[in-house]
Amino acid sequence: MKIDLHTHSTRSDGTMSPTELVQHAIIDGISIMALTDHDTVAGWDEAAAAVRGDFQLVPGAEISCLTEDHRSIHMLGLLFDRAYQPLQDALELSRDDRVPRMKKMIELMAADGIKITFEEVLEHQPEGSTLGRPHLADTLVTKGIVKTRDQAFAEFLANDSKYYVSHIAPTPIDAVKLIRAAGGVAVIAHPYSSMRDTKMSIDNFVELKAAGLNGIEVDHRDHGNEERQNLREIAQELNLIITGSSDFHGTGKLNLIGENVTSPENWEQLESLANDRRVIRK
Ligand code: AMP
Ligand code: ZN
Ligand code: FE
Ligand code: FE
Repeated sequence: MKIDLHTHSTRSDGTMSPTELVQHAIIDGISIMALTDHDTVAGWDEAAAAVRGDFQLVPGAEISCLTEDHRSIHMLGLLFDRAYQPLQDALELSRDDRVPRMKKMIELMAADGIKITFEEVLEHQPEGSTLGRPHLADTLVTKGIVKTRDQAFAEFLANDSKYYVSHIAPTPIDAVKLIRAAGGVAVIAHPYSSMRDTKMSIDNFVELKAAGLNGIEVDHRDHGNEERQNLREIAQELNLIITGSSDFHGTGKLNLIGENVTSPENWEQLESLANDRRVIRK
C-alpha cells in the first residue's frame, strides 16, 4: 500500500493537470495521494473527479511561510475544510503578492542584463495556478538562457541568490493554527531542505508542536540519512507523526511519484486527527 502525501499539479508548479496526476498515481500503484499545490486548493475538484477504483485522494495544500527572521518554511495542510475563510484569506494574500514579487525579481534580473518580461512569464503560468519561481525558470529555459528548471534555480533563482525576493506569507506558527482551526492536520514539509543555511532547532519544533503541529515529513529526497535519523528522534520526542512523500512535480523536478511513502499506520493516525473524514473516494 503506497501512500504519498505531497504532490503538485498545474494549479501550482507541477507539470501534470490534476486529472493527469491522479491517473499517473493510479497507474503507478499509489493507493492514497495528497494533492498539495502551493498556496491553493484550486485543483481539488478536478482531482476529485478523476478518482477511480479504490484510490483515495487527500485534499491539501503546501503553504509557503516566512519566519519572523525571514526564513522560508513550507507547511503541508491536509484534510482541512476549505470553507474556513481565514485560511483561504491567508492563501489569497500570498498568491496576490506573488505578482509584485515576480515583477521585482524580473527587475533585478533586468538590471543585470537578463531581459525577461512579466508577460513572458505569464505565458508559462497555467491558467488559475499559483505563480512561482518555476514559471520564471521555464521562461529562462524557453529563452535559451538555461537548459532546465534545475539549472535556472542553481544559477539564478535559489533562496540565497541576489535575484530572490520573498512574498507575503504567514509565519509557520500562524499557518499551523489556521490549518488546525480549519479542522485539518499540519505536517511540516522537508524541514531540513528549505532552510539549508540555518537548520531548524529543536526549539522551533517545540513551538510548532505547541501551536498544533501534527507531523514531520521525514522521508523526502532533500534529506540525507543523518537528517532523517535526527528528525525521527525529534518526532519521537515530541510525539509527532512521521510522514514520507515524493513532492512530485511532473517533469518539473526529478522527484518520482511514490519515491518516498508514509506507512499505513502513520497515515491512519494522522487522518484520525482531522475534525472530519475528508478523504475523497469514488
Ligand atoms: P516559489 O514558491 O515561487 O518561492 O518557488 C519555490 C518552488 O520552486 C519550490 O516549492 C519548488 O517546488 C520549486 N523548486 C525549487 N528548487 C527547484 C529546482 N531546483 N528545480 C525545480 N523546481 C524547484
Ligand atoms: Zn513546487
Ligand atoms: Fe516545498
Ligand atoms: Fe512541494
